[in-house]
Amino acid sequence: MAPTMTNTAKPAVTLVGGGLVGALLATLLAQRGFAVEVFERRPDPRRAGYAGGRSINLALAERGLHGLRVAGLSDEIMRLAMMMRGRMVHHRDGHAELLRYGRDDSEVIWSLSRGRLNIALIDAAERAGARFHFDRRLEDATFGDGVSLRFHDDADGSMHEHRAAFVLGCDGAGSALRAAMDRVTPLGERIEELGHGYKELEIPALPESGFAIERNALHIWPRGNYMCIALPNAEGSFTVTLFLPSRGDPSFETIDTAAKARAFFERDFADLLPLIPDFDADFAGNPVGVLATLYLDRWHLDGRALLLGDAAHAIVPFHGQGMNCGLEDAVELAELLDTHCDDLAVHEWPARDRAHQRSTGGGESEFTSDSPTRKTARTAVFRESLEATFAEFERRRRPNAEAIAKMALENYVEMRDSVADAGFLLRRELGRVLAERHPQRFVPRYSMVTFSRMPYAQAFARGAVQDALLHELADGKSRIENIDLARADALVRERLTPLA
Ligand code: FAD
Repeated sequence: MAPTMTNTAKPAVTLVGGGLVGALLATLLAQRGFAVEVFERRPDPRRAGYAGGRSINLALAERGLHGLRVAGLSDEIMRLAMMMRGRMVHHRDGHAELLRYGRDDSEVIWSLSRGRLNIALIDAAERAGARFHFDRRLEDATFGDGVSLRFHDDADGSMHEHRAAFVLGCDGAGSALRAAMDRVTPLGERIEELGHGYKELEIPALPESGFAIERNALHIWPRGNYMCIALPNAEGSFTVTLFLPSRGDPSFETIDTAAKARAFFERDFADLLPLIPDFDADFAGNPVGVLATLYLDRWHLDGRALLLGDAAHAIVPFHGQGMNCGLEDAVELAELLDTHCDDLAVHEWPARDRAHQRSTGGGESEFTSDSPTRKTARTAVFRESLEATFAEFERRRRPNAEAIAKMALENYVEMRDSVADAGFLLRRELGRVLAERHPQRFVPRYSMVTFSRMPYAQAFARGAVQDALLHELADGKSRIENIDLARADALVRERLTPLA
């Protein structure tokens, strides 16, 4: 099968999955002149309502925001966002304090509705020329000269086939494309379950005054081995998420009825419970979500298939970076494909030949003037170029995905436990002091991850140096005044190079 071609000289691109990453990638590629087709399992959310099955809202930070800026969508989407200045920590005794994320309101994160964001991205992709096929659940893919994809329409039970030169898998953590690729060449998949699950509950908007608690914060009720968090929604409600071990005591196994959950909340989240009027119905009705980290040794099958977003690197949600990382993938891949495929189009598909393309309506196309030998030779060059592009994408992104996976796991401990811990608070304060004294050298890891686009792997490495330094200076001390800042300054200069 010849690569699918378009009159724009760029190859047609087939995406599986029109979630957050797929829809942004479709937008970016369509804006660059690729003919993009997206096959999405769910019905069109603009007609059927959004059925996400994951968190209702999520935190957007600089990396994701950058993706929206590149697509020209940040103004439109940020109108839907709620600013979160920091963590509002709710202690057991009922008092609460705001721990700012950054220096000021230029360093904040944003709460966004997943459904609204997805719809805005789908609209943008269509405006740019991408075609969406909803109710198309990938069942299987076979890889020959190109790729044959088999889709099931869950609405009417029909089957559909689509052939493509190559396919990009944005179909999330349970990726069907990944499974099909793995059957051809094992990808080295490892899924490590966290052993903790989550359940969503809701603090509704108040009839008159709107928000029941501080609106511009991410609320946390840290309780050692478990916690609740709450993110604001624009209309005044908050989505609460309970994170709890799957087994042991307390756990989702032992707290398996609304009555037991109510008693648990009366004991551990006494100030939160009265804010959730439909607690019993929420607890009984909402499912327990599973949390896991996905590791792969390979993200692509030569030049025929590539995975990105959660399909390649699903992580636990405690750094609020899964989507941000996936949107960063989309930007990087769109730029790489644009560069490489432009070259390919100019050198391998001259205008003379393109004039002879006969499109078959978004499916396969043919070269009417090509001899089979030339076609085969050009297909081989095309594949090599794509394989090199996919390999380059994986080379750039995989170490970064691995770094954020580790940091997300570490952040769970910090959120549920350390935010209430005196040693952690002292190190945090010292970190702030050092960041003020050495703004080019000492940048809190959270800030590098959240407010910059520094590669995650670099943020992880610098973070490790900084953390060791903070322990060295603060362990055994109870007050910042007891820390030798002259020594601290010397160590910072010695161990941390200035950032550009
Ligand atoms: P998905 O969002 O899963 O989208 C995959 C798409 O593919 C879906 O539309 C799906 O219907 C479709 N699909 C699936 N299978 C098929 C198939 N066989 N055929 C066709 N289509 C298919 N990230 C953040 O950055 N900030 C946060 O605050 C945050 N909070 C989170 C909270 C929770 C509780 C969880 C679980 C995750 C959170 N994340 C957060 C992570 C974020 O949800 C994911 O990283 C993000 O959704 C990944 O986007 P994606 O497009 O790769 O995958």
